[in-house]
Amino acid sequence: MRIAEYDQILADLVAIPSVNDHEAAVADYLEKLLAKHHITAQRVPYAPGRDNLVAEIGNGQGPVLGFDGHADTVALGDRAKWQTDPLVGTIKAGKMYGRGVTDMKAGLAAGVIAMIQLHDAGVLLNGTIRLLATVGEEIGELGAHQLAEQGYVDDMAGIVIGEPSGVAKDFVTQPAAQSIFPLSPEERDVLVAANQNTEQHFVVAAHKGTLAFRVDSVGQAAHSSMPELGYNAITPLLTFYNRVQQYFEDQAGLKDPILGPATPVVTLLNAGEQINTVPASASMSINVRTIPEKTNDAMLADIQALADEVNQAEQAHLTIRVISKLSPMSTDPNARLVQLTKRIGEKHLKQQLPVIGVSGGTDASPIVDRNPNIEAVVFGPGNFSAHQVNEYVDMGIYHQYINLYIDLCKHYLAGM
Ligand SMILES: [Zn+2]
Repeated sequence: MRIAEYDQILADLVAIPSVNDHEAAVADYLEKLLAKHHITAQRVPYAPGRDNLVAEIGNGQGPVLGFDGHADTVALGDRAKWQTDPLVGTIKAGKMYGRGVTDMKAGLAAGVIAMIQLHDAGVLLNGTIRLLATVGEEIGELGAHQLAEQGYVDDMAGIVIGEPSGVAKDFVTQPAAQSIFPLSPEERDVLVAANQNTEQHFVVAAHKGTLAFRVDSVGQAAHSSMPELGYNAITPLLTFYNRVQQYFEDQAGLKDPILGPATPVVTLLNAGEQINTVPASASMSINVRTIPEKTNDAMLADIQALADEVNQAEQAHLTIRVISKLSPMSTDPNARLVQLTKRIGEKHLKQQLPVIGVSGGTDASPIVDRNPNIEAVVFGPGNFSAHQVNEYVDMGIYHQYINLYIDLCKHYLAGM
């Protein structure tokens, strides 16, 4: 396969609209492309028009290395602010622009092309490379949940999540980078000096999980001139709010060495109907980014206990409803896949690659939930233009990732 074809495949993927839906069209395209190279793929339907795709190469005897890429994208955003058509992969000055090109059609394409190249070259792999092209990652890792539940990750020793793991090189020394990357100014200077490329990348070995829940308080409406006839739903919710704030303050000392502490944010508050009525309902939503040191279930049990206490003490009716529960990913920085990714990535990307943790989640959450022993890394072409207008990928970096994925697959299965 020639480089022009690499670029065409990426442009073709960008031209398929897959905003939180229609991933079946991406699966169609990849299935045909793989079939052209004699690789059979299997469709795993999630819903009408939404198919995951699974494909394998290798001899099926050694370890299984997974590659995960999601086929959905976020919405196009304000079209007037795009300098190109977001549904046409347009190359300008070495960058391809388009919705989803960085997050993460370039990563998905690079993984698929790497498989094809290995297969076409007749490389004897002692083991299996398994591609998971998933649906609905942006709205709760729907496809990854489904594939994990159906056992597609049970036998995997490692998995590469091909999500964007880079930033423009000049961003590394800007103040905004300080809170995102746990590096001293000296370390950042060293990185930039050693970098012979356009972007700085990172091997992401850990990311936080999510525990999002809503607390509903039920009261009794009454005229505000006769409040004794009612029960104000806001009152116990405020008590709960204070308790939960104290709880998180107490938890702040519990830190993951890479990820830091869990971070709670109260994101929604709703209460009351009008100014002269005792409120019959009130609710509050909290989104916590969680760490391995306190599992989502353990935290949820603590929070439920706080609500039970308030219910008892104030004859209140607080109930907790979980909106989303995703595990953190936390691979040992010394795990073989992490170190191999670092070594091979540094060679191909011509830079030093720090091993870090980030806050945002990926398809890894349901995968590590199902297979806690798996070595998972997030490492792929793309950058911070994800979810923004004028999203782009650096084409040089995209090409380098294809080659480094090929190298990584060979080395990982060879036990090197
Ligand atoms: Zn993504």
